[in-house]
Amino acid sequence: MEASTQRIKIAVQKSGRLTDHSIDLLERCGLKVTKSKDQLICYGENMPIDLLLVRDDDIPGLVGDDVCDLGIVGLNVVEEKRLKLEQEGSKGQFKQIFELEFGHCRLAIAAPQGVQYEGPKTLNNSKIATSYISLLTDYLTKNNVQAEAVYFSGAVEIAPKLGRADFICDLVSSGSTLAANGLREVAVILESEAVVIQTLAPLGDAKQALVDKILQRLDGVLKVHDSKYIMLHAPRSALAEIRALLPGSEAPTVMPLEGSDDRVAVHAVCRENVFWETLENLKAAGASSLLVLPVEKMLA
Ligand code: ATP
Ligand code: ZN
Repeated sequence: MEASTQRIKIAVQKSGRLTDHSIDLLERCGLKVTKSKDQLICYGENMPIDLLLVRDDDIPGLVGDDVCDLGIVGLNVVEEKRLKLEQEGSKGQFKQIFELEFGHCRLAIAAPQGVQYEGPKTLNNSKIATSYISLLTDYLTKNNVQAEAVYFSGAVEIAPKLGRADFICDLVSSGSTLAANGLREVAVILESEAVVIQTLAPLGDAKQALVDKILQRLDGVLKVHDSKYIMLHAPRSALAEIRALLPGSEAPTVMPLEGSDDRVAVHAVCRENVFWETLENLKAAGASSLLVLPVEKMLA
């Protein structure tokens, strides 16, 4: 059994919008964990990797303080923490590694319907309710706006109705919550998605090797997103045109077909989705027997 110091700890949101995606992603990297969400720790069964299930707001701190080696959290939370530390004169002891292509949202300023918005200057002398004091303050400073950021820990969108603020600054994805509260988005402060962060503390060789392995697998899982494996037959003379039509592919494999001097089989990984139009164009260029398969894993 490995010493517990040799195990990697990954901080993941305990219960919220990022939880299922984060655990699913790690499982696609080959990690098997016991999945009970009411536990604080999920132990990895087949790798020396454990998941610490915590509130998302605590994740940058846990990684920065070296309690966890890696964390999966929204860029909005990471940037808020980084700016807060910066405003206090210290520095976040974590680095951002990948964007994970889920948890997309934006931190935006919203105004009550009917309020005229003519750019940041409209915010002058107003009160803005938010849970993101540092990001909002930074935005106001950069735009030379004098306004008061009022802290709300939740249900920010009701602040204008309660007469506690003139505007709000909150996370938006579809905008339906804003609309339901008589608000409309007027300015985007930050585009966000889930990211992986890593501690800046040195990990030692064994742990670093394991972190590198899991990051490489994560990279592989992300790369196959939308990737397709395409197989077709084509006349040799059409190869140049067919290569040009294959979306986002590297050099394809070209193999002779038994019993045919002229026709070859072409196999290629396309790092983008392959649409019907592409297949029709390939067929028009002389391709036949076209097959498109999903890609499950990739290791460059
Ligand atoms: P916790 O209890 O962990 O503090 P929370 O209520 O702060 O949870 P969630 O609402 O689960 O957090 O959101 C987690 C993350 O999901 C956000 O920080 C953000 O990165 C992302 N997200 C994506 N879309 C939205 C959205 N429409 N509203 C809020 N967050 C979103
Ligand atoms: Zn939170």
